[in-house]
Amino acid sequence: MSKEIQQKIEKLRKELNEHNYKYYVLDASEISDYEFDIKLKELEKLEEEHPEFFDPNSPSQRVGGQITKNFETVTHKERMYSLDNSYSKEDVMDWEKRLHKLTGAENIEYTCELKYDGASINLTFENGNFSTAVTRGDGFQGDNVSTNVKTIKSIPLKINGEDFLENFDIRGEIILPFDGFEKMNKERMEAGEDPYANPRNTASGSLKLQDSSETAKRPLDCLLYQVVAEQEKYKTHFEILEAAKAVGFKVPETIEVCKNVKEVLAFVEKWDTKRHDLPYETDGVVIKVNSLELQKNLGFTSKFPRWAIAYKFKAEQESTILEEVTYQVGRTGAITPVANLKPVQLAGTTVKRASLHNADQIEKLDLHLKDTVFVEKGGEIIPKIVSVDISKRKPNSEVVKYITNCPECGTELVRKEGDAKHYCPNELGCPPQIVGRIQHYISRKALNIDGIGGETVSLFVKEGLVKTYADLYDLKVEQIMPLERMAEKSAKNIVKGIEASKNVSFEKVLFGLGIRFVGETVAKKLARHYLSIDNLAKATRDELINVDEIGDKIADSVLAFFAEERNLEIIEKLRKDGVQLEMDAPQNVVENDLLEGKTFLFTGKLTKFTRDEAKDMVEKFGGKTVSGVSSKLNFLVVGEKAGSKLKKAEALGTVDILTEDEFLEKIN
Ligand code: AMP
Ligand code: ZN
Repeated sequence: MSKEIQQKIEKLRKELNEHNYKYYVLDASEISDYEFDIKLKELEKLEEEHPEFFDPNSPSQRVGGQITKNFETVTHKERMYSLDNSYSKEDVMDWEKRLHKLTGAENIEYTCELKYDGASINLTFENGNFSTAVTRGDGFQGDNVSTNVKTIKSIPLKINGEDFLENFDIRGEIILPFDGFEKMNKERMEAGEDPYANPRNTASGSLKLQDSSETAKRPLDCLLYQVVAEQEKYKTHFEILEAAKAVGFKVPETIEVCKNVKEVLAFVEKWDTKRHDLPYETDGVVIKVNSLELQKNLGFTSKFPRWAIAYKFKAEQESTILEEVTYQVGRTGAITPVANLKPVQLAGTTVKRASLHNADQIEKLDLHLKDTVFVEKGGEIIPKIVSVDISKRKPNSEVVKYITNCPECGTELVRKEGDAKHYCPNELGCPPQIVGRIQHYISRKALNIDGIGGETVSLFVKEGLVKTYADLYDLKVEQIMPLERMAEKSAKNIVKGIEASKNVSFEKVLFGLGIRFVGETVAKKLARHYLSIDNLAKATRDELINVDEIGDKIADSVLAFFAEERNLEIIEKLRKDGVQLEMDAPQNVVENDLLEGKTFLFTGKLTKFTRDEAKDMVEKFGGKTVSGVSSKLNFLVVGEKAGSKLKKAEALGTVDILTEDEFLEKIN
């Protein structure tokens, strides 16, 4: 029996590993996400029932969940060197000359790879199994970030097949592809948070998150470029990487063997433009001597390998004129300065605007109007101003002074300590904030109201039809029809769409309320934990912080939202309109389903916990509390001096009666 189970577990692990490989490395999936999840759930269940077959490298271990407070420092077996840089063809040709002199060889073969811009990582494999992942650190020592790295699905936790080495280190770059980075930023901005600056920093920051389930959610990838091992089996760098690819590692296809420096330079030239089509950031080419024996003979200087060099692409930079700085007001009142530029061609697109982030940055650049500025397109999607050509500055040009009042409503801006941004505090009267909040409320991931676009919202606000999202529910076809570009049909659609939003789940409504820092994921967490808006509104700061993944910042923002009388009025209005302000019972997805579907009632004087605490515990484990004894009651927990409820339950005979201690035992 146990043998059978073991085989079943191993079969599932193997299948899941293969699907992961096909999906994340080969980019060609064979089964749907749904089928994958079913298999994964089956595996998780078997593993839970049979802890004797635990394997830290099981595909079930990739979802994360482990918390690391301090990352252990680990010394690299082989130092992780940096690379010598070159910036021109001449530099590369000089390097080749040095190599010929040093080795006496006549023809040297090279490999060319792209230089991926992320966080370097060293993966150690023992007996073909993943064992540790360590960051580069200072090159000698790095941090053990295995728990986080294990969540990256394109890294095999077990190599596929016997035809490679058993014990080896493999190095590569952990990257965040552009599309994933943009998606993360979109979610952050929807939650009213500042976007991350660039994919590289975000990738390396992701490796140091304390909660590995957070890392698991980030769309990280790992591209591998170097095997480090004592071995005789493979003679060239290219060969060993091909072999690594064959056993499941993600080695980019772009690597090429070049017979001489002429071919190397052709590679460089080709990729200088072609790299812009790649889904991730690259900042150069890494040229390596292909023969592993030659590499060994060449060795290292005090900083770099002699057998490799990086060719750095010039960052795409152009100079243009700064016409003016304008200021945008977001739905949270955050002010974003934008540089309006004389249009210029950069990396294949016309650039007219650049982001300036905040007042500090403007000051740091010492911007003047009509300055000649250099704009660069880095990892960011919107280009940025990197410097000013002071030599071209006109005398008496006007310095860019940050605004003191809101450009939309004139209210004096505020800047809280520790905040890089300025805010317009006039939440209720500032048009873009009013419109922004409603736009957020109707957006796809929130109430998903069909038939209304951003412009329609502006129109409603301008015409005085709505002031808050709760006013949407009062809109009548007759009111909408006379508006610009509206007809009976579109007006009816809008009203129908608004009506339909009353069926949207509480999780999405909570997100739609637009509480600062409560993005889609946090809204889900809070909704599932508190189950209703009323519970959430009553939560104290301590209670909030104790919810998984909720920190000070979010807790304070939630408290501030519910402290505002106006918000409470809006919520009451939504309630009257029939918007979902609590979770549907069957959808109550909770942290743990130990008590799933079970009902509880507490009676008598409780001594071990308060009634509220009891209720929290029941809900945390998936149960429900009810207010009276009936045939639907499963458990009655009795404190001191229990009275009529106990009698009634005893009479019914279908209710399990527990003491407080027995209840605690049950949930422990
Ligand atoms: P640098 O940090 O500029 O000295 O460059 C060295 C770093 O380039 C290494 O630590 C790697 O993280 C990174 N790198 C990116 N792509 C490659 C590649 N294909 N081969 C070797 N190193 C690479
Ligand atoms: Zn304003």
